[in-house]
Amino acid sequence: MNDVKLAVLGSDGVGKSALIVRFLTRRFIGEYASSTECIYRKRLSVDGRQLNLELYDPCPQPCDGKTSLNEQMHWADGFVVVYDISDRSSFLTATAIVHLIRELHLGVTKRDVDSVVFLVGNKQDLCHMREVSREEGQRLAAENSCQFYELSAAEHYQEVALMFSKVVRNASLN
Ligand code: GDP
Repeated sequence: MNDVKLAVLGSDGVGKSALIVRFLTRRFIGEYASSTECIYRKRLSVDGRQLNLELYDPCPQPCDGKTSLNEQMHWADGFVVVYDISDRSSFLTATAIVHLIRELHLGVTKRDVDSVVFLVGNKQDLCHMREVSREEGQRLAAENSCQFYELSAAEHYQEVALMFSKVVRNASLN
């Protein structure tokens, strides 16, 4: 059985836990008070193959630089970098994380690096408060060879499930 490890990264409050819990349980959690890092585990069937999935949700703290990301994330097979489309500062943090992943060459041992870093603009339901255009997200993803999604953990279960299924599938092939 394959093990697949994903790290879900981004500023505090962008919806990392909401996305993970939505994917794993189909439910949207309104408030989720987490002060510690979590690893969620689930057994999945992808393309007829049984996989053990581990999803890493770090504790709420700003991204504290190269060393931390390097140490913590080398075990990951794939990355989901999340920002909130209604919060520009979260996009700047996501940009820094994407650049760090590239700079640290995380995933370089993987066969297809480009398929295992996903950039996700969450809270699309808040588009009336949008501070980050879809084009900016697409551009950041294209410049760093990431897959790009804009979605809502609150309203788009199908898109959330599709996004996680793809990154799990891609990471499991590496
Ligand atoms: P985390 O710190 O990145 O894990 O963020 P959380 O998952 O704890 O979510 C932070 C807040 O954003 C919570 O109040 C969630 O209910 C809310 N939230 C998460 N996803 C969405 C979304 O897609 N739309 C809206 N409107 N709120 C969301």
